[in-house]
Amino acid sequence: MSQNEKKYLTTASGAPVGDNQNSITAGHRGPTLIQDVHLLEKLAHFNRERIPERVVHAKGAGAHGYFEVTNDVSKYTKADFLSEVGKKTPMFIRFSTVAGELGSADTVRDPRGFAVKFYTEEGNYDLVGNNTPVFFIRDAIKFPDFIHTQKRNPKTHRKDVNAIWDFWSLSPESLHQITILHSDRGIPATLRHMNGYGSHTFKWTNANGESVFVKYHFKTDQGTKNLDADLADKLAGENADYHLEDLYNSIEDGNFPTWTLKVQIMPEEDAKNYRLDPFDVTKVWPHEDYPLVEVGRMVLDRNPENYFAEVEQAAFSPGHFVPGIEASPDKMLQGRLFAYSDAHRYRVGANHELLPINRPKVEANNYQRDGYMRTDSNGGGSVNYEPNSFQGPKETPENKTTPFEVSGFADSVSYDSEDHFSQPGALFRDVMSEDERTRLIKNFADHMRDVERDDIKLRQIGLFYKVDPELGTRIAEELGLSVPETAK
Ligand code: NDP
Repeated sequence: MSQNEKKYLTTASGAPVGDNQNSITAGHRGPTLIQDVHLLEKLAHFNRERIPERVVHAKGAGAHGYFEVTNDVSKYTKADFLSEVGKKTPMFIRFSTVAGELGSADTVRDPRGFAVKFYTEEGNYDLVGNNTPVFFIRDAIKFPDFIHTQKRNPKTHRKDVNAIWDFWSLSPESLHQITILHSDRGIPATLRHMNGYGSHTFKWTNANGESVFVKYHFKTDQGTKNLDADLADKLAGENADYHLEDLYNSIEDGNFPTWTLKVQIMPEEDAKNYRLDPFDVTKVWPHEDYPLVEVGRMVLDRNPENYFAEVEQAAFSPGHFVPGIEASPDKMLQGRLFAYSDAHRYRVGANHELLPINRPKVEANNYQRDGYMRTDSNGGGSVNYEPNSFQGPKETPENKTTPFEVSGFADSVSYDSEDHFSQPGALFRDVMSEDERTRLIKNFADHMRDVERDDIKLRQIGLFYKVDPELGTRIAEELGLSVPETAK
């Protein structure tokens, strides 16, 4: 019988352990001996159990499942995993909160990460989205500053409403996202009851080399449900893992959550003259211009076996594309193409793609070698350079990125439109009910109340007034202030 079948305790190097309860001491009452190498190894490994926490999206929940195509979109994309109705692809999802730490409470007002890894036959495709269709900022150069305002104050080490509202009131492009965040959807009832969005615009290319732009929407089949803000506060104190628990138990009980994936499709020509910049991630494409087209269904049917191995070590990147799906010039996406894999190289290591949760289901053939924790055969004795005369893996020109035209001057420039008001205005006026509007105003006012400086509050009230005079006026009243004349 092999050692594994007998399952006796060993050191990491495989030697049997004689005593795991008592360390070796010099006599009954003597000090511990350094020759107890099992004790040394045990303590030393324990000290190294934590890897760097993600700076954002630290607290997460994961699940395995599959994606099944339900509608033929092959005229838009040559992506093999979307090529025919009925085709199923295994996938893994990681949901997360953004600003809190690994042990933080689930039921806080925060966007939720919605990161999906499709293990396709052409390599992994990652769609690293959120439960909101837009984002706070639209250029990656602002991201570190923005996140500093969401994390802890450098002096008090507490969350800081002054920094949050100072930054938002000076970054009016955040208005759309903060309106969604302070609406009922800012605290989903469970991870199963919220939509997911790719948020960015992506490019789909078909077998003839023709392209369209797309936006992804995962619509929850459980229906959208949110938590009352007071109940959410209570739950945050009573059960920090409320959302993790719900997702885990639901899957264990065989109550598998599902989402319907839909896309909005914009012809390439439209993108040149559309009234909105289609690459600005602070804007949506109104449904009446670009209706939702069904693509398929995502089913979550298996919990991870080991949280660290699967959820903590999972490494998603918006740069993980497959043939038929490409980036758009969205400036926020462009920064994320670099930042995600870079975070994982720091957090998990240069060879993080070799870990079982990240490894593609197809063979990865390339000339990358060596590095910390190279856990496979490292290419063995095969040729490690390209081009070569030794049958090494070769490029496939049919998979080159689709050429696209660019023009203009290289410069640091913003998007053309500074209209940050119309879309949150439409949400406030046309989508929300009167009850929802009242709760939105209360949520905003409750969050802003502790800001110490009136000039920051007034600057933000002026922006809310531009979204809708009623929104600005009612928030000002709640805070005992008046809308500044300059905003009117
Ligand atoms: P529609 O009336 O066609 O769609 C409204 C959308 O708003 C629906 O997708 C709905 O999601 C969603 N929604 C409802 N309440 C909230 C909320 N509190 N937070 C976020 N989304 C919510 O309108 P338009 O397409 O013309 O867009 C009007 C406004 O709706 C936009 O300015 C934007 O703020 C918001 N919106 C638009 C989306 C889009 O892609 N066009 C996507 C999401 C929001 P559901 O159908 O799942 O209930």
